[in-house]
Amino acid sequence: MTAGATSAEIDRGRDILRASRGVVVLTGAGLSADSGLATFRGPGGQWRKHRPEELATPEAFRRDPRLVWEWYEARRRAAAEAAPNDAHRAIAEFALRRDDVTIVTQNVDGLHALAARCVATGPRRAPGNISRALPLELHGTFYRVRCTSCGRRREHRDLIDASSKETLPRCDDCGALLRPDVVWFGEPLGEAIERAFGCASQAEVCLVVGTSAVVQPAASVAMVTRRAGGAIIEVNPEETPLSPMCAVSLRDTAATAVPMLLAGCGGSSTAAC
Ligand code: NAD
Ligand code: ZN
Repeated sequence: MTAGATSAEIDRGRDILRASRGVVVLTGAGLSADSGLATFRGPGGQWRKHRPEELATPEAFRRDPRLVWEWYEARRRAAAEAAPNDAHRAIAEFALRRDDVTIVTQNVDGLHALAARCVATGPRRAPGNISRALPLELHGTFYRVRCTSCGRRREHRDLIDASSKETLPRCDDCGALLRPDVVWFGEPLGEAIERAFGCASQAEVCLVVGTSAVVQPAASVAMVTRRAGGAIIEVNPEETPLSPMCAVSLRDTAATAVPMLLAGCGGSSTAAC
């Protein structure tokens, strides 16, 4: 990891954001690292303990649904105990104060929505409809389940008992096993990605926070903005495949760099909840 973003780089990113119309904020697991949630890749990433093809695939679920649910349940509980960090809050305030921001996330932890709620209703209440700060969730969410047989989806926030196959949650309608409503490797992304590409093609800036930019097609969202003539600003302590295409790369953690970057551009460094 490098020493951190310089104030000249932050200023340059701010100038670009101030002069632009239409911003897509594309976020990944690194954004929630500062809330204590493990990433998949990068230092301390989860894939060092669990290989993706062992757990985050339809085949893995067919082979051993209990093991897959056990892994998800541990991550769901960690997410349920986590709080949005300063970067989630600054992004929410940025989206509420401006009317041209779309948040697109690969995260499934629900922290963008929590930040939106606390910034929209907290003591320093930001103006704007809360829906502006709710993200397009490209990879689904921990807090919804889907039937493996009839496909019915529903919200599910309760604890899941993954101690045996018999205790796993089942569909009220058809009795088949329920699975997390997240996108697994090899599965299609649904209509959220089309909406994200549409916004990205109209945006003058794509601000990319905490993603390794290797999971497709999510990583292409930034390239759509770039190809349409817009700029990419990246916040990541590590270099990524997008770095050579960026107008500004802030080599810093999200919770440090994002509030500084967005202060004065609509967001705030001290958005309180
Ligand atoms: P990733 O794990 O592939 O990469 C994480 C990136 O974040 C790395 O580039 C790393 O350098 C960077 N990073 C680490 N700490 C950071 C910090 N403090 N501030 C800013 N950046 C930091 O994540 P990804 O690109 O989002 O991978 C995609 C997949 O990971 C998605 O399918 C997503 O659903 C899944 N995922 C989500 C969560 C979550 O919802 N919190 C957690 C783990 C994985
Ligand atoms: Zn069913």
